[in-house]
Amino acid sequence: MIANNGRLKIAIQKSGRLTEDSISLLRACGLEFEFQKQSLYSPCRNFDLDVLALRDDDIPEYVQDAVADLGIVGENIVREKRAQVEIVTKLGYGHCRLTISVPQRSTIRSVSQLNRKRIATTYPSTLKQFLRARRLKAEVIELSGSVELAPTLDVADAICDIVSTGTTSRVNGLRPLHVVLSSEAVLIANRQTLKKSAKKLLIERLAIRISGSLQARGKRYMMMNAPLTAVPRLKRIIPSLKSPTVVPLAEEGMVALHSVVAEDVFWDVMERLKKAGASDIIVVPIETIIT
Ligand code: AMP
Repeated sequence: MIANNGRLKIAIQKSGRLTEDSISLLRACGLEFEFQKQSLYSPCRNFDLDVLALRDDDIPEYVQDAVADLGIVGENIVREKRAQVEIVTKLGYGHCRLTISVPQRSTIRSVSQLNRKRIATTYPSTLKQFLRARRLKAEVIELSGSVELAPTLDVADAICDIVSTGTTSRVNGLRPLHVVLSSEAVLIANRQTLKKSAKKLLIERLAIRISGSLQARGKRYMMMNAPLTAVPRLKRIIPSLKSPTVVPLAEEGMVALHSVVAEDVFWDVMERLKKAGASDIIVVPIETIIT
């Protein structure tokens, strides 16, 4: 029995692809908890929140039924379970695509050619919905795993399965035909809890922390010194959030410039800034950005 003690409950995948990133995200929000996948509950020491370790397939339904108030799960599972939950925000990890693929040698070249064909999947609900919307009559073969083997075993003419890098498909001689759904990890919430005042406030506080930590992801804080006369030149190089902060230094005619830059461009930006007159360039990680 899960205690209903007014504390917020967030369900995350017990053990799997999303587990590590979900724990890191919560810890980056300043939440302190020991996560043990063997135990259902991990109470948070510095926030009114318990982290529940559950099978990801069960998370949408548990959130819908208020067993947990919040959940972190792949959007693919939320859609498949047709759960009546609110998607609060996308979380930027666990990217994958629910894709229809056919064997390399197949004559099927377009979605319309799937009519009257057999498609194997572990996502029957999403696939049936897709076929209905396209007015296609295909036989949906429900499997519980190893879907990629179905064409080789002549159980199906096509498959509808999760793909991220495409390696499994290639190894099994499959060619992608159509992306049914692009997915990533999402934060979901129980609709009633979102309306209740006591927990609503806690959810809002947590949501601000999550969005701050997502904003900070892939960004660095850059500081440098430069002659005041170089500022217009440097400003053109710095791709900052808004405009860089310029602070006068004790030394006459010298300033410090501070700015946020994306991780993937900062080496390039740093070299150009140096050439344009900047010195003592320091780059530090950012924990959170609250806009
Ligand atoms: P798993 O731990 O394999 O049950 O995967 C958990 C979730 O990770 C899935 O429901 C998807 O949302 C996401 N995911 C990302 N890449 C993949 C992939 N290559 N195969 C399966 N799931 C993936």
